[in-house]
Amino acid sequence: MNTHQENLELREALSVAGLRYTAQREAVYQYLCSVSTHPTAEEVYQAVRQRIPRISLATVYKCLEALVACGKATKISSADGPARYDHRTDRHVHMRDLRTGEVRDLELPHELRLHDRLQAQLEDLLRQNGFRITDVRIELVGYFDKPYSNSSSAPA
Ligand SMILES: [Zn+2]
Repeated sequence: MNTHQENLELREALSVAGLRYTAQREAVYQYLCSVSTHPTAEEVYQAVRQRIPRISLATVYKCLEALVACGKATKISSADGPARYDHRTDRHVHMRDLRTGEVRDLELPHELRLHDRLQAQLEDLLRQNGFRITDVRIELVGYFDKPYSNSSSAPA
């Protein structure tokens, strides 16, 4: 998708969610779309301030939360590290490195359809437990053979 199209869709999504379209939100979204590293807010801040020097970390946090609120990004929370952000909002599998916190996407062959199979098999059991499932998130944890040496300077 080209940048112009992405921006139009961002405008539309923010508007539907009752949120304002701002240059900062656009810059944060553009950066998020340009990387597959699932950056932390701090990493987004370091990158976006190259373009908008006066942007603050607090503003970057608010921009990211606005993107999540309008459905244009996903927040990946972690118990033992900062949250990361993903421009992908489709169902996909994450691999998380327990040492560095680095998160990468695992591209599954289509026929695996892990999310659909898991959700179908769990639904009855969850209902019996009084739990209504709304989503399935699959995160595999372990160690990459070749982690980025420092996740805060991960290549784009
Ligand atoms: Zn992802």
